[in-house]
Amino acid sequence: MPIDPTQPYDDSNIFARIMRGEIPSTKVYEDEWAFAFEDINPQAAVHTLVVPKGSYVSWDDFSARAPDEEIAGFVRAVGAVARAKGLVEPGYRLLANVGAHGGQEVAHLHVHIFGGQPLGPMIARR
Ligand code: 5GP
Repeated sequence: MPIDPTQPYDDSNIFARIMRGEIPSTKVYEDEWAFAFEDINPQAAVHTLVVPKGSYVSWDDFSARAPDEEIAGFVRAVGAVARAKGLVEPGYRLLANVGAHGGQEVAHLHVHIFGGQPLGPMIARR
């Protein structure tokens, strides 16, 4: 079920629970600003999720409310994860779904990193 990106942040969401260690994950990176782990249902050869440590429902919430330092830290973390995975030269794709039309299912901002193969069309054909 898609989430409502205008709802207040609720720290019972699954990614907050993963960061608290209440649910296991395959962690690939962590720093002051971000936590990254493998998607449980990968859609490409590489499918890694990067989430900010701060409490933000969506990209909309993050871009509106997060302090500049936190935005910079998170964006740099996404780049660091992609570099660590060796994705820069072959290339990769970032995706942040927002709300119903985006198909967002978890109400904590997450950026998908896809790679490890040619990724095809940018969005599904209708
Ligand atoms: P969204 O549709 O919200 O952009 O993406 C949510 C993503 O979270 C999906 O790709 C889904 O496979 C992943 N996901 C959902 N639950 C879990 C979980 O418990 N662990 C991990 N590692 N990924 C999850």
